[in-house]
Amino acid sequence: MKQNKDTMFILGITGGIGSGKTTVLNILKEDYQAFIIEADALAHDLMQPEKEAYQQIVKCFGTEILNEDRTIDRTALGQLVFTDRKKLAQLNGIVHPAVKKDILRQIQEQTELGCRLLVIEAALLLEDGYQDICSEIWYVRTETEIRIQRLCQYRNFTRERALNVIHSQMNDTYYQERCQFTLDNSGNQEDLRRQICQKLNR
Ligand code: ATP
Repeated sequence: MKQNKDTMFILGITGGIGSGKTTVLNILKEDYQAFIIEADALAHDLMQPEKEAYQQIVKCFGTEILNEDRTIDRTALGQLVFTDRKKLAQLNGIVHPAVKKDILRQIQEQTELGCRLLVIEAALLLEDGYQDICSEIWYVRTETEIRIQRLCQYRNFTRERALNVIHSQMNDTYYQERCQFTLDNSGNQEDLRRQICQKLNR
């Protein structure tokens, strides 16, 4: 699916929890009019009744994961897969292909509309094989100590919880070996904006 490379730049943004992915997306949207696709939000959307993944999830996990209004109770679903790797793999096997299919549809749509910069943000961009779709993937990196401070300050995490999540995710080396570029978000937002501006040469 690299045929869009010449016409539209498809940029993947990835990184660990609280590294600044959303902050980067906001800059790309405001300063570069990028069309943004957030894989997590899209996955939630595709779980709505009548959407791509809904029937398959209900068929696989049963009606006990439904709310009274027939929408999927994501907390119940989360609890079900949290302790069961096989069930988590089943859920991912339904949701991830549906997300990718819809992203390909949106890429096609945006190409026809003449979009120049499309950005896909996902924590698992590399694991889910988006290298084949993206022109380039950027890693958003922040010093661990600063990430912990931000997670505690803005997300009400305890230091211990922040560290647990950070250590359960892939490390800098993993991302840096697989991404084409690293943005360092350990400074302020202007510093981040400057790095993006330099990289995009605009
Ligand atoms: P998640 O993985 O949970 O989706 P994320 O990678 O999207 O997180 P952000 O939401 O962009 O990360 O940033 C985490 C928090 O840190 C936010 O509250 C954000 O406002 C703050 N933050 C991000 N970058 C900076 C910065 N350069 N200076 C100060 N605060 C920042």
